[in-house]
Amino acid sequence: MARQGMSRRTAIKGIGAVGTVAGSTAYGTKMAQGASGAAARAKPADYAEQIVRRVNETLLVDSHEHLPDESERLRGAVASREKSANDWSLILNHYLDSDLVSAGMSQKDYNAFFTTQMDPQAKWRLIAPFWPAVKNTGYGQAVTIALRELYGVDELSEKTVGRIAEAYRASLKPGLYRKVLCDVAKIDSCQVNAGSFHESDMPDLLLQDISIVGMHMGPSLNAYGKGIEVKELADWHKVIDAWFEKYAKYAVAVKSQAAYSRDLDYEDVKAEQAAWIFKRVIAKEPVSAEDQKKLQDHLFWYAVGKATEHDLPVKLHTGYYAGHNRMPLGRVAKNPASVCEVVRRAPATRFVLMHICWPFYEDMIALAKHYSNVILDMCWAWIMGPATSTEFLKHYLMSAPANKILTFGGDYRPVEPVVGHAAIARRGIARALAELVDEGWLTVDGALELVEPIMCGNGRRIFKLEEKKAACRTAPWV
Ligand SMILES: [Zn+2]
Repeated sequence: MARQGMSRRTAIKGIGAVGTVAGSTAYGTKMAQGASGAAARAKPADYAEQIVRRVNETLLVDSHEHLPDESERLRGAVASREKSANDWSLILNHYLDSDLVSAGMSQKDYNAFFTTQMDPQAKWRLIAPFWPAVKNTGYGQAVTIALRELYGVDELSEKTVGRIAEAYRASLKPGLYRKVLCDVAKIDSCQVNAGSFHESDMPDLLLQDISIVGMHMGPSLNAYGKGIEVKELADWHKVIDAWFEKYAKYAVAVKSQAAYSRDLDYEDVKAEQAAWIFKRVIAKEPVSAEDQKKLQDHLFWYAVGKATEHDLPVKLHTGYYAGHNRMPLGRVAKNPASVCEVVRRAPATRFVLMHICWPFYEDMIALAKHYSNVILDMCWAWIMGPATSTEFLKHYLMSAPANKILTFGGDYRPVEPVVGHAAIARRGIARALAELVDEGWLTVDGALELVEPIMCGNGRRIFKLEEKKAACRTAPWV
């Protein structure tokens, strides 16, 4: 039955302009009478501006990046490792390159654009046919905002590409990261996932995760196995133990992105059941997929147990795949149900479920509502789905406890587009809160009170940031 009497006429004109961190515009609203009428009548005319201001003034705790240290970036090590051209195309390399391929860019043009040095105009001609198709996606908007905020260029075009190339070159000097992350994006600190554990030379800005993916997938003896001879499973346990002994004090969390290659259905497999499989794997003898999974399952729980002993949250990739032309959506869709069994089995472990399993986020809200050891992390989500992430945040805040949501992680290798991602996140956070006020679900004060915890306070508490920063400042490699 149509509920005509409940329909609301809302004229939402938008909150600020994307990327204009300090900007705000009037939030014209006309609220019909109904259950929410009282809240509507009580709110001040400038409530949306108040929310925008509060969001723009608040630092973001960035819970997920793949940033190398600035010193590595300035040495050109990143470009050469990834066989990328060390020019302005690097800003588009992660993730907009995937949208370009999806829009129809050929592999030949892709390689020419991203891996070779060439005149900026010639590079522009390679992407020009696809630019109108990709510039409005979250990936595209993050790049456009970064170019505007960092170089003062309104849009990538034939006319501006020369200036962008020049501004990019000029920006590559010490201080780049602090300018981009702290001054422009207003980020407190980033949590970096780079290899097994990276001994960063920017310890208070680039905090680090311990990767557990190589501990249980493979496993990757070369990445962790130095100093201990590994002949059997018990030796590998010792390697994992030693890794945690050495780095747990400095790490903010552990992370696994194993969902890129398997389901998250980790079963309880005892050491006795896994030991013979481990021996065969390291001897490079054939092992069935079923036995390989048993070994992975055993080692996953071993590493998760160690993380829990050291009070480190366990970050798990869930949802959409980076890249293009490879994602098994059927398996991805099962992530919420599979990870539900994982969190149920380990009530003492704090799980940070990354990327809100976009686009399957509604089930994840149910997980966070039901399980006290589940924290949801919106890292990467804003640029995959700016509008759906706004909806997610509204739904989350109306359903699950506000102390278990992390609202930002740029998830980039190049530092520049983090600026664009942060601006999109700020716009979405402000918009979600203002819409909740507009619709009568929250009071203005209620919305304003949520800003600090969801952008910053939750991250500081969950990852013990002050304690970790203090430990990292005196780390032996600093
Ligand atoms: Zn990532």
